Amino acid sequence: MIKEVIVGMTLGILIFLVWIGYNILPIFLLAGVGILCYLAITQRGLLGATHARRYCPAQRISFADVGGQEPAKNEVKEALEFIIKADKISKMGIRPLKGILLTGPPGTGKTLLAKAAATYTDAVFIATTGSEFIEMYAGVGAQRVRSLFKRARDTAQQEKKNNAIVFIDEIEVIAGKRGSSGSTHMEYDQTLNQLLVEMDGIRSDDSVRVLVIGATNRADMLDPALLRPGRFDRQVKVDLPDKKGRLEILKIHVNNKPLGEDVELEEIARETFGFSGAHLESAANEAAILALRENSPKITMAHFREAVDKVMLGEKLNNKPTADEIFRIAVHESGHAFVSETLIPDSVSHVTITSRGNALGYTRHNPTDDPYLYTKEFLEHQIQILLAGSAAEQVLIGNKSTGAYNDFKEAVKIAKQIIVSGLSSLGVVSVEDLEKTLIHETISEIIRNEEEKVVALLNENIDILKRMVEMLQKNESLMAEDIRSLIQEGLQCA
Ligand code: ATP
Repeated sequence: MIKEVIVGMTLGILIFLVWIGYNILPIFLLAGVGILCYLAITQRGLLGATHARRYCPAQRISFADVGGQEPAKNEVKEALEFIIKADKISKMGIRPLKGILLTGPPGTGKTLLAKAAATYTDAVFIATTGSEFIEMYAGVGAQRVRSLFKRARDTAQQEKKNNAIVFIDEIEVIAGKRGSSGSTHMEYDQTLNQLLVEMDGIRSDDSVRVLVIGATNRADMLDPALLRPGRFDRQVKVDLPDKKGRLEILKIHVNNKPLGEDVELEEIARETFGFSGAHLESAANEAAILALRENSPKITMAHFREAVDKVMLGEKLNNKPTADEIFRIAVHESGHAFVSETLIPDSVSHVTITSRGNALGYTRHNPTDDPYLYTKEFLEHQIQILLAGSAAEQVLIGNKSTGAYNDFKEAVKIAKQIIVSGLSSLGVVSVEDLEKTLIHETISEIIRNEEEKVVALLNENIDILKRMVEMLQKNESLMAEDIRSLIQEGLQCA
């Protein structure tokens, strides 16, 4: 009604101006420029959250497409029952579920889970990231939050759907603890306040039920107001997959790829400890690219191994190390491989002196199972394996190099773990109350003891070590079977 009155009055004034002979062209031009600016601001997203992406039904993702993550999937599904059975829930006077927060490392499938949730509840899915709300201009973030929710409701209405899922990735960017973001905190705080207002406004009898799914790698940074009951009621951990999960994810990603007879996905799942779903997807993709490059009709185990190395360590280096360096790398890696295989049989998957990314050579280990607890002996063995590279350089070349820097760092970390777990000569201690020098001395003592054991082991088996170095230089890589037979033959000859 007000609109009509304004339009009518404007028209009346314009007609009057023309009648008294006034030139109205500049007014038209000014109005045109104003309208253009308004459209540019709202359509380009300066004020509206138009960066938010719609997930089109063609790429419908279901929970079956999310490998592993059984606990997370079950928790999310359970929470979604509140939406699917909304009528019953509302009759019982239960307040609606407003938000689910997915937390976990990058690439573990949080976005996939949110998309699967949209498919499961037949909801419109609007995705955005926290960083898209932040501009220099005060109030823009809050306005974008309003537009985001409005867009979710409008789209659902247009598509005649009852549910809409608003997915906000990197939610910690807008939902960090209020008052902690330095000079621009006012803008961040306003944005978060608006998100809270929108979430508080969700009702069970809304014609379109909106569910907010937030995802973050930094749950510790979130403002407690966001996590209180009635907002993100459910927090679901989406962790790195275990071996079974890795196998499931691999199966999903090789589903559309031609696999050779020799490919053992279980073996690959075992070797990829610490990989996220995104790493596994990338490994499967890289393996297919390698097969294509070689004109091989099928992806073989060798392609997979190379792809896993590439994902783990990066591209092969173009600049080759010198002959002396290659010898030293072979000695270093043989030390790691020999000591690892001797202390923990079947622990080496393969060793190579092909330089990739930041690694000049490397020894890949098989984690037997994903362990939760470690014994003191296990930790000491790990230190010995880490020290074995530089120890081998000392034994065979007579000096050490900077190549062991990362090994030492890791070894020190494990030594600290021994101390804090009460497994060192200090017994059970309160580490915070210990003097730094005492901690340092205890770490050095642990490292020294383990180094002595490694040097002794290598000296006792120096012929096997030399043979391994020779073979490694010749072949660039040795597989687990080659290493084992080398050690067996060496022990029989001794
Ligand atoms: P980020 O925290 O970096 O946003 P994310 O946890 O949201 O990451 P996704 O975007 O869901 O991770 O995953 C990236 C890609 O990795 C997916 O498109 C998929 O190919 C693969 N992926 C990750 N996790 C899984 C999984 N559990 N099952 C199958 N594929 C997965």
